[in-house]
Amino acid sequence: MKKLLASLMALGLALSMAACSTTSSDASEPASSGSSAASGESAAAADPDKVWLIATDTVFVPFEYTDENGDFVGIDVDILAAIAEDQGFKYELNSIGWDGAVAAVQTGQADAIIAGASITDERKESGWIFSDGYYNATQTIAVAEDSTITSFEDLRGTSVAVKNGTAGADYAESLKDEYGFTITYFDDSPTMYQDVIIGNSSACFEDTPVMISYIKQKGIALKVPEGLESEGAPYGLAIMNEDNQAFLDMFNAGLANIQANGTYDAIIEKYLG
Ligand code: GLN
Repeated sequence: MKKLLASLMALGLALSMAACSTTSSDASEPASSGSSAASGESAAAADPDKVWLIATDTVFVPFEYTDENGDFVGIDVDILAAIAEDQGFKYELNSIGWDGAVAAVQTGQADAIIAGASITDERKESGWIFSDGYYNATQTIAVAEDSTITSFEDLRGTSVAVKNGTAGADYAESLKDEYGFTITYFDDSPTMYQDVIIGNSSACFEDTPVMISYIKQKGIALKVPEGLESEGAPYGLAIMNEDNQAFLDMFNAGLANIQANGTYDAIIEKYLG
């Protein structure tokens, strides 16, 4: 884990899931040579002892977070565990933050990312390969509990907070010229929320169910105004190295099975019910 973070920092990559093609093609080489001792995609698929390295976010409630007992839990965590059991594969889940998880897959240090990653055309065009969608989410804003902001027009002349390289950041960027606000970038969700609570930022842009769940779970002084949601997109697990297609196939097969047998619904009910 430390080694992974150190090498990611040493690489100093531009950290964006919508990476330019230079980054993704640069990144695909170490990915194919370093992902497994076995060579070739069929060897990786056939090796039942392969431990798939999956990277995830740190705090993206209720998809991944550390609960009051200190356990790392969430919808992504449980879905992955259920699919692995269904398909009989081994994996290691590393919680390294959104940017870190994206970079880990780009550099071949991780085989896949599961972190409530929105499936977008832009990401697909930049080399990401997604599983089937497993949860639909829009993006919107959250403002301080006592804020009078109810529209994008109310953001004019203010500064908003986003998390680096996310769909929420894309949404803010798509609106900033029209509504005349500036953007401050954060590495993780709690720090971004805090900036709004203390009044440095007028609002933050993130996934609607995530902000609603976090506010409910932690009782923080934020609220989500109505009617400002993006179009939204489903979440998918994502890979970049085509050699890991076998893993994606197992994930999709397992996802269909847990959706058919009620496990998926039970997981959603557990965290969002
Ligand atoms: N769904 C958002 C995205 O894909 C945010 C993901 C996250 O912050 N973990 O960009």
